[in-house]
Amino acid sequence: MLFAYTYVSHAMEKMQAFINFIFFEVWCNAPIGLPFSLDLFETEPDLREVLSAFGFAANAPKLGKQFYKDIKAIYELFAPLTPEQVDQLKQWYQANNEIEKVCANDPKVKIARYVDIADIHPDLSEQLASFFKGLYSQQLLDLAALREKIGQLDKHYEEFMRANTTGKCPFCGLGDIKGVHHTRREAYDHYLPKALYPFNSINFRNLAPACHECNSTYKHSKDPARNKAGRRKAFYPYTTDFPGIEITIDLNNPDIDRLTPADIQLTFGPAAVHEEIETWKEVYGIDERYKAKCCDGDAKDWLEQFRILRDASGFTPNNYLDTIQQQTAKAPVANSNFLKLAFLKGCQRAGLLDAIAKEGGLVMTLCPRLYERYVKYEQSHWRSASKLRIIASFMCGISVPARTGSGHANWKRKNHERSE
Ligand SMILES: [Zn+2]
Repeated sequence: MLFAYTYVSHAMEKMQAFINFIFFEVWCNAPIGLPFSLDLFETEPDLREVLSAFGFAANAPKLGKQFYKDIKAIYELFAPLTPEQVDQLKQWYQANNEIEKVCANDPKVKIARYVDIADIHPDLSEQLASFFKGLYSQQLLDLAALREKIGQLDKHYEEFMRANTTGKCPFCGLGDIKGVHHTRREAYDHYLPKALYPFNSINFRNLAPACHECNSTYKHSKDPARNKAGRRKAFYPYTTDFPGIEITIDLNNPDIDRLTPADIQLTFGPAAVHEEIETWKEVYGIDERYKAKCCDGDAKDWLEQFRILRDASGFTPNNYLDTIQQQTAKAPVANSNFLKLAFLKGCQRAGLLDAIAKEGGLVMTLCPRLYERYVKYEQSHWRSASKLRIIASFMCGISVPARTGSGHANWKRKNHERSE
């Protein structure tokens, strides 16, 4: 993860409050033996109204009817449970909703997947899956009776994006995230997948917009909280204490045109969050995606930008790296700056930037007198200097860098030259 999202409170959190009520006040009290009716919802009048519309209105929508039926069916499955069994389910419900503690792999928080519940209550596990997997459905949430009470998911997204303005996906740092100027939105990823975990499918601490590549190509229903070896730590998308990620790229092959992922070595830090980093890399295919980016056209363009600045403004490798460093400090995920900087530093260690700097320097070696005249003239007679540069380029077949000094002035001169 490259950065953490800012959590945004919204009316839609009321849906989770409804679910909490249904679980603790209705289902967990089913063993008392009262028949299922709207009377059970008396102390939560808004929810009672919704269920009245879904369960009893003549024109109740299909999804609304299903919502009501599922709640009733689960109530009946809770009815024969012992107090110990109910306590176990309460503990699982609470644990599955403590998303930050789950991510930290807090040993006191014992989470449960559908398979864990199925070991003891197969019918209940199946019925809970039917209910919780269908809960996060735009069609259900948009039903008028519910929408009146909880607002709209699209509005939540809009407010979320007003508070989170990088325009990039925090899980890869590469993909764009649609913002307030788009009429469409990104899908919310269920960080703990709704296909595996009951109880948290409408908990907004477990919902985070992600780019299409992260959500649909790489993560799917991979489990950040567990791998084959068991429980593990993961970054929490809404942490207020994100340590930042350090990336080092080393190139085993200085031939940029023939660079393959096997030539690239990626190292991540800080060591204090090693386990979280390993989880992140595995869940989002980070190694593969970052290495591919370093082998494709973008990375070649990063080097080409150095050639342009070398020729236009006399940039040295250090000038160029300083500039990228400043850009990265200001906006780490804009234009993949974080990766660009790590890649270019790797290029410098592999001698690539010095080699590019020398491409221009060759003219100075081959035509020292010409270069001397060019330097002399450039300070006061830029037009003549430009002509000399063109002659030198023609003679040697290599571009001559402009003299160092004011880069902006050089650009201005170049543009002026073109407009004449
Ligand atoms: Zn992404």
